[in-house]
Amino acid sequence: MDNHIDTICVQGGWQPENGGPRQLPVYQSTTFKYATSQQMADLFDLKATGYFYTRLQNPTNDEVAKKIAQLEGGVAAMLTSSGQAASFFSVFNVCEAGDHFISCSSIYGGTFNLFAITMKKLGIECTFVDQTAPAEEIAKAFRPNTKCVFGETVANPAGFILDIEKMANLAHSHGVPLIVDNTFATPVLCRPFQFGADIVVHSTTKYMDGHGCGVGGVIVDSGNFDWEKHPDRFPGLTQPDPSYHGLAYTKAFGKGAYITKATAQLMRDLGSIQSPQNAFLLNLGLESLHLRMPRHCSNALAAAKFLRQHPKVAWVHFAGLEDDPEYPLVQKQFSGGIPCGVLTFGIKGGREQSIKFMDALRLVSIVTHVADARSCVLHPASHTHRQLTDEQLRDAGIPPDLIRFSLGIEDPRDIIADLEQALEKV
Ligand SMILES: *Cc1c(COP(=O)(O)O)cnc(C)c1O
Repeated sequence: MDNHIDTICVQGGWQPENGGPRQLPVYQSTTFKYATSQQMADLFDLKATGYFYTRLQNPTNDEVAKKIAQLEGGVAAMLTSSGQAASFFSVFNVCEAGDHFISCSSIYGGTFNLFAITMKKLGIECTFVDQTAPAEEIAKAFRPNTKCVFGETVANPAGFILDIEKMANLAHSHGVPLIVDNTFATPVLCRPFQFGADIVVHSTTKYMDGHGCGVGGVIVDSGNFDWEKHPDRFPGLTQPDPSYHGLAYTKAFGKGAYITKATAQLMRDLGSIQSPQNAFLLNLGLESLHLRMPRHCSNALAAAKFLRQHPKVAWVHFAGLEDDPEYPLVQKQFSGGIPCGVLTFGIKGGREQSIKFMDALRLVSIVTHVADARSCVLHPASHTHRQLTDEQLRDAGIPPDLIRFSLGIEDPRDIIADLEQALEKV
């Protein structure tokens, strides 16, 4: 389907047959029935396509994955139970014990722990690089056993913008793919494949769901990375898989190799499937994503402008502001010229005043969540990064007074009135 993004949000994926249900049905079934034993055997051998067990594939999930693949402009996608599972599978699909990969250091805290600590226990080493460093500097991190590069379009919570083209060129000149976490931008604002990214992951828990009702994730493949060009570097994709009687994914599935391997091997063995019910809710969220994103963005810009002129506010960071150093990059990569609806700021007087301000908010709520229809705030120093000292916080790029502010889709006048009354109390 060659429709525009807005139309794909509404009508991508599920296509009913004549007389079929207009809305995507929820296939709330663990298993699927066949007439002969041979038919089922062919499915197990990946010789035929079809459903047999929901841990591997489910029709509801597949229709939602198809819509997201269309939104990103990719060839195939797979839903996962969470964004964490999507990030892990995306890297683990090309890395095994003894391998190495590179990640931007400015990424979501959960992903940082996964890469720095948990994957190290599996024998996979990650080098973190400063994404703003010159390309020659970042190039020094590559090793002969490097298998991919990972970054976030808009870093959570720091708000820094990834120069996707620069990172893609670096990855490709070293014969490896670039994986981009596009959670905060969504394909409505930025489509990383246009700038050279090869794989995209999302925590669908955030804007895609949009209503805070289901934890989920997705991996999308552009189909552009040529694994066969480096057969020795990616043996899992190009060499026979002993768990599938010697089938080689690139030879059997071409551009579908990466997602087929992630489904047939990783999902089969690690089992992090999204429930069909959650996939249905995710699809409902996607139907209005194109309407919600511009409102999240305009609310964030209005709040950023209000906060930066307020005498009690120490600083505001939002790359959608014209004088932000990353503003030109935002204009290049993001349709509408605003990166997302999340900004960060600090209150004069430091940590205590930031906390006092948050406690005084009425409409804007304190939650761990972000990128929701309802405006919300979080204080990383007291919540997600509570175990760190003030010095460690600064090293992690998180000032002790930093408030992460996620703008919802309410009337901006009510949000700003709430900020105003809370600022009066500090
Ligand atoms: C929340 C988040 C994740 C993790 O997703 P979950 O759905 O919570 O597992 C990954 N990346 C980014 C950018 C996120 O904001």
